[in-house]
Amino acid sequence: MYEDILVPTDGSAGASAALEEAIELADQFDATIHSLYVVDLASLGTEAGAVDMVESFEQMGEEATEAAATRARDAGVAAEGSVATGSPHREILDYVDDHGVDLVVMGTHGRTGLERYLLGSVTEKIVRTADVPVLTVRADEDGTEDDE
Ligand code: ATP
Ligand code: MN
Repeated sequence: MYEDILVPTDGSAGASAALEEAIELADQFDATIHSLYVVDLASLGTEAGAVDMVESFEQMGEEATEAAATRARDAGVAAEGSVATGSPHREILDYVDDHGVDLVVMGTHGRTGLERYLLGSVTEKIVRTADVPVLTVRADEDGTEDDE
């Protein structure tokens, strides 16, 4: 039913809770997990040093997506990681189109937002606009994933 599952990650507890859920689904459906980190250009500004900042965020993204892919492979699931640069929700939607993604699994919240909002802004935009189903996963209050 699902062949390519996208798990956008910002390195947050919400994103790792989403990854655990995605791994279980991928295992059931024999699907591939795609881990994607987007360097958010708007959040970096334009002042001197921004180029170095982009590079260090790219580096962090490589590490986060490689760690996610390794975690999935250790669980017996095919996985790949990649890093994009731009506006997170646009890059996520482009990735869905370009890679034939049939399910997106992401955190209800991420690194920067406030828990009192129902959904983080990136997740809200994806839920509103994606052409494929979106599964949102909430991390436990202590920041670990929910073991049920
Ligand atoms: P804010 O609206 O202030 O950013 P937030 O950080 O709590 O609030 P989101 O940014 O929407 O909420 O994060 C929710 C989920 O979206 C994360 O768990 C992750 O799955 C995904 N996400 C957020 N930012 C990125 C990013 N830069 N690259 C890839 N995925 C992201
Ligand atoms: Mn965020």
